[in-house]
Amino acid sequence: MNLADTELVNGVLQDGGFHQTAKINEADAIFINTCSVREHAEAKVHSRLGNFSKIKQQKPDILIGLLGCMAQNLKDEILEKKPYIDLVLGPDSYRRLPQILNNRSNFEKNIVDTKLSRLEVYDGLFPSRKEGINAWVSIMRGCDKFCTFCIVPFTRGRERSRSPQSIIGEIRQAIENGFVEITLLGQNVNSYKYENYNFTRLLEEISAISGLKRLRFTSPHPSDINDELLQLIADKPNICNSIHLPLQAGADRILKRMNRTYTKKQFIQKAQNIRSIIPDIGLTTDIIVGFPGESQADFEDTLSVMETIKFDSAFTFKYSSRPYTKAEEFDDQVSEEIKQKWLEKVIALQKNHTLLRNEELIGEVVEVLVEKESKKSPDCWSGRTDNNKWVIFEKEFAKIKDIIPVRIADAFGVTLMGQIEED
Ligand code: SAH
Ligand code: SF4
Repeated sequence: MNLADTELVNGVLQDGGFHQTAKINEADAIFINTCSVREHAEAKVHSRLGNFSKIKQQKPDILIGLLGCMAQNLKDEILEKKPYIDLVLGPDSYRRLPQILNNRSNFEKNIVDTKLSRLEVYDGLFPSRKEGINAWVSIMRGCDKFCTFCIVPFTRGRERSRSPQSIIGEIRQAIENGFVEITLLGQNVNSYKYENYNFTRLLEEISAISGLKRLRFTSPHPSDINDELLQLIADKPNICNSIHLPLQAGADRILKRMNRTYTKKQFIQKAQNIRSIIPDIGLTTDIIVGFPGESQADFEDTLSVMETIKFDSAFTFKYSSRPYTKAEEFDDQVSEEIKQKWLEKVIALQKNHTLLRNEELIGEVVEVLVEKESKKSPDCWSGRTDNNKWVIFEKEFAKIKDIIPVRIADAFGVTLMGQIEED
């Protein structure tokens, strides 16, 4: 989402007559696009800002701008403690950038705009993308789910969807520019709703666009996945058989406290239903360990859901307390030591499952989209399967952007090795 927003900002700036430089010491302005979802993401930004403050000392005229969720969340602290930051713009204010840059001399020292909009979806603006295989296309912004651990509804505001016409126009243009894969993006991508369009209808229309080889989407919320959507994914060859299904936690008590709107049993049923409708689905997840009040028994419920479903891969996080959220007020926080121990456990378990799932593919022929040269060897390509696994294989006659059949020979952790299957 952050990368897509950066491409959008780049587009806004280019339309305003500005251009990007690859050399930081040639820049007249530096923008950093930020994420607040976890403490760790914010820590990285603080350390990068330290470097920018040194640049500012050497070049006092340079404009330093902080964009995105941290702007929203930390504007007061930033203005107080980091006066070298000239501009603080929240995620709904990017349209103002060219005007701000052009009128810089008329502004007071710091410019702050972190108002959230109920409407802004950046319709009519085209992101400026580097050439490539996959284009990220934002279809909705914001979130109304209010999980108790999550800052997103506060930093990105209310849920709102872009018009299908504008989304489809952007995708057609991306395909004309050479992209072959589209990933639809949204904080809750499948909560998409625009007049009489729901997510399934939108997906169906997009999948019919000529030249679109692969269509992906992220991140869906489990409660908005229904059979109609699953059937469409099963029926359309260019909609990838890959679903990110964020579990967060396995214990009912914790799920309820997180306001996740499903129980352990319902989540498992959902995953099994997905696998029954789309048998070769790649199922991935997000897991948080150490949510306030989580006991050893609760944590073991998370492990047991993982054991039952055996996800293809998982993003795993230690809970971090975020401002404004309900969970911040809970007084039964879990110690750092326990969080670390639990995190290591889920990582180790997931490693086994990833390998297990990948080993299931040994001997199978899978369709791989050729994406880039492998880091392992200049004689090999690296590409992804429909269900989102990386495969390395000898180049032979294949070209970048081809979809070709590859027979899987081996699995090493997250990577598969194979050979092109000739007729
Ligand atoms: N909308 C998606 C998730 C978006 S945030 C969903 O509902 O599933 C991406 C991931 O960051 C979340 O799935 C969660 O696992 C993690 N995350 C969010 N807030 C967090 C927090 N306070 N501490 C640790 N991880 C968090
Ligand atoms: Fe955050 Fe996702 Fe929950 Fe929305 S649904 S509050 S983005 S975790």
